[in-house]
Amino acid sequence: MIIKFLGGCDEVGREAFLVKDNNTNVLLEYGVELQPEILLPLIPNVQVDGVLISHAHLDHSGMVPLLYKFQTPKLFTTPATLDLMNLLLEDYIKVGKITRNYAEYTKADIMKMNKHAIPQGYNKRFRVGNLQAEFFDAGHIPGSASMFVSGSKNVLYTGDINTIDTYLVRYGTQKYPKLDCLITESTYAGREHADRKNEEKRFIEKIKEHENGLVMLPAFAVGRAQELLLMLQENNIGREIYLDGMGQKAADIILFHKNYINDADKLRKALREVNFVRTKKQRNKILREGGIVITTSGMLNGGPILYYLNKARDFKDACLLITGYQAEGTPGKKLLETGYFENEETRFKVNIEIQRYNFSGHAGGTELLNLIRKAAPKKVVCVHGDNTKKFANDIKSKLGIEAIAPKIGENIEV
Ligand SMILES: [Zn+2]
Repeated sequence: MIIKFLGGCDEVGREAFLVKDNNTNVLLEYGVELQPEILLPLIPNVQVDGVLISHAHLDHSGMVPLLYKFQTPKLFTTPATLDLMNLLLEDYIKVGKITRNYAEYTKADIMKMNKHAIPQGYNKRFRVGNLQAEFFDAGHIPGSASMFVSGSKNVLYTGDINTIDTYLVRYGTQKYPKLDCLITESTYAGREHADRKNEEKRFIEKIKEHENGLVMLPAFAVGRAQELLLMLQENNIGREIYLDGMGQKAADIILFHKNYINDADKLRKALREVNFVRTKKQRNKILREGGIVITTSGMLNGGPILYYLNKARDFKDACLLITGYQAEGTPGKKLLETGYFENEETRFKVNIEIQRYNFSGHAGGTELLNLIRKAAPKKVVCVHGDNTKKFANDIKSKLGIEAIAPKIGENIEV
C-alpha cells in the first residue's frame, strides 16, 4: 500500500491523501486551505476510484467538486456530511464570486458530485474498488467520521476528532480494527485544552454580566453554532437568543439527520425558542435592544457578525465572546492580538470587551496520545497541524511507536 500526501500535512487546510493498493486508488479528503490565502491540494494524477470525506468542513471537503471536472469517482461519506457539504460548497462558490470574482468550480460540478455520491453510515463495511472501507464516529461535528481503508494493509485516518463529550455530538467508545498505519490529525498536539466545564462556567458568567447589553457570539455555521445554542439552553440563560447567518440552515440539516447528534429533542426545542434573524431591520432592533446573537463567521472574515461588530464597536454594554479556532491571518486572530478589526475594506478599533473561550472540537494533546496508544498501530503518520514533526518525535519517545510527519508531495509505503 502506498500513500501519497497531496496536501494538509504540516498545515491545517487542504487535506488530501491518496491511498494506492490492489489496483485501486482511494482519495481520503479533498479540501481547500482558506486562511490566510486560498491554496489547493495537488492534483491526483491517477484515475480515482473513490473519494472518502470525513466531514463537511471545507479544509476537508472544499475541493471535491473540482475533481468532477476531470473524472467521476464514487463519493463516500455519511448522509449528514453530504448534506452539510453541499451547504458549505455552495457558499464557497458564492463567497468566491463576491470576494475574488472567481470560484474553482460551479454548481453543475456540485450536482455531478452528488450524482456519484453513495452515503454510508458508521460501522458498516463497504467496497471501494478492490478495497474495503468503514466509517467510525469521530465526535467532531455531526456526521464526522474516522475513515478505515483495508487492502494489503489496514490504515485509519482519524479525520478531525474529538474524544470528549459535547452537547451536540459524542465520540462514544470506538473500537478500531488492527492497524498497520494510523494517520492522525495533530491540531492540538502538544497542547492541552482548559477544562471544558470551567470554560463553560466562565462563559455563562460573562454573558450574565452583560445582561442588558449585546452579546455577540461569532461561530462556525456547522457544529459550533448549534453547540453554543444547546449550551445556552442548558444553562437557562433566560434572555432572547438570536441565530443569524448560515448556522440556521446548518441547524435544519443537522436536525434532519438526527441519528448523528446526541439529543435531537433538545436541539429541536432550542431551535423552537431561538429567534431566526433574516433582515437588516431585525438586526437593527437587536442592536437597539440587546440580546445574545450567535452568528457567522467564526473567524470574522465575513457574514452578519461584521454588521453587528461595526455598529456595536463603541457600545457601553456589549461584548464579543470568541469560542472557536482563529487561524493565522484572519480578522478574528488580528482582533485578539491588536484590538483592531481589520479586513480589505476597513479598519477600526473595537472598544468593547472581548473574551476568548476554548470549546474546541478537537482532541487535546493527551487525548491524542491516549487515542494512539489505544489504537496501537504499527506506524503513525502526523498530519493536519502546525507542529507535526515535533508530534511525531513525541509519539516515538512517549509511546515507542514509529511515527513520521510527511511533507506535501511525499509518498510513503505502509
Ligand atoms: Zn473540522
